[in-house]
Amino acid sequence: MSAIQAPKGTRDIFAPEVHAWQHLEAAIRDYYGRYLYQEIRTPLFEHSELFSRGIGEQTEVVQKEMYTFRDKADRSLTLRPENTASVVRAAIEHNLFEALAPLRFFYIGPMFRYDKPQKGRYRQFHQFGVEVFADDAPQVDAEVIFSAVDFLRRLGIAQVQLELNSVGCPNCRPAYLKVLRQAAQDRSADLCEDCRRKIDSNPLRIFDCKQHACSGIAASFPVIGDHLCPECREHFAAVRETLSWMNVPFLLNPRLVRGLDYYTKTAFEVTSGQLGAQNALLGGGRYNDLIRELGGPDMAGIGFAAGMERLVLHLEHLAAPRPKVLFVATADPRWLAHAVQLAQVLRSEGHPVYVDYQSKNLKKQFKKADRIAAAFTLVLAEDEVRDGAVSVKNMATQEQVKIPLKDLNAWLKQNP
Ligand code: AMP
Repeated sequence: MSAIQAPKGTRDIFAPEVHAWQHLEAAIRDYYGRYLYQEIRTPLFEHSELFSRGIGEQTEVVQKEMYTFRDKADRSLTLRPENTASVVRAAIEHNLFEALAPLRFFYIGPMFRYDKPQKGRYRQFHQFGVEVFADDAPQVDAEVIFSAVDFLRRLGIAQVQLELNSVGCPNCRPAYLKVLRQAAQDRSADLCEDCRRKIDSNPLRIFDCKQHACSGIAASFPVIGDHLCPECREHFAAVRETLSWMNVPFLLNPRLVRGLDYYTKTAFEVTSGQLGAQNALLGGGRYNDLIRELGGPDMAGIGFAAGMERLVLHLEHLAAPRPKVLFVATADPRWLAHAVQLAQVLRSEGHPVYVDYQSKNLKKQFKKADRIAAAFTLVLAEDEVRDGAVSVKNMATQEQVKIPLKDLNAWLKQNP
């Protein structure tokens, strides 16, 4: 029978790579705890409507990338392609606006998009992200952006570039879209078919087109920065000023529009100089209308999502912290009861312990201890059992000492 493989675009994660994931997850919890963010865990699937309404019907994600299916009761459900809409849905459903203050969340988990798989791009991938509600101060935008860049720096990911833009708001965007549409219309003959379609439905998305000809043409299109209303202009200026107080270098990119429709005002992306084509590490921005549009109060929001696979690519060089493994060996099956009990005591004291039940003689057990990279083998033989002791063999130096059981824990702590 042929062996079954994991579906295209998914990956198994195991040692040693999994150590980098554990390191990253612990770092997220530690770092964002300092900013009073609380973890939120939402379902992996939601009603499809949440994403079509939340992310935007005309976006690439909703049009082409969602894993949507009907369940046995004929409901349309979708594996979450991102988590902001779900966090907003959960906050509305449980009225967290009143219960939790400050309204700051972080999440860690898998997302699903029917993307073209390649290195750094998968169909099941992981994001961690943050969301801050109920605070429209531009300093909050700067703090969220600072935290993203600072977190990467603390992880040891140094070569990063922050790009920043303001995508306006419902007051100024419609007038800009009109100008943009006109400019795109004038060049429609030179745009790809996909972009021609976007002229009517969502002209901002033309800036996302990867086709060389289209991006060349889009470079001459008017930019939103020149059409911001006074409120958006002031907000953006204050974000930039606060970032300069915080010593965060950034590049203004007037064509940064992001792939999800819910953004208003600040939009940002962080890319890595060390990754190839898939160099976007994280992206986010403000979404001041999303909470209201999904049925909640009229409340501001801002957040970002980071691709964890791409962060892990930077972290894989991290040496996994190697625990000092103890291997319990018995010279004779008669001492198995002592071995089992010794292992229980040692584990309760915090040591990682492996007991060998299979090997018939000590020589084989020493070999196995080497194979699992045990630091010490604890040998129980007739003498040791009689004396209430154990012989501890240092697997690196081959030295062996006999230690009374009552002194073993202290001895192990002194002999790392
Ligand atoms: P987005 O939600 O599209 O703004 O993406 C935020 C971040 O998630 C990106 O900067 C990437 O690091 C990561 N990301 C998005 N799509 C994928 C994917 N298909 N595979 C791996 N990482 C992804």
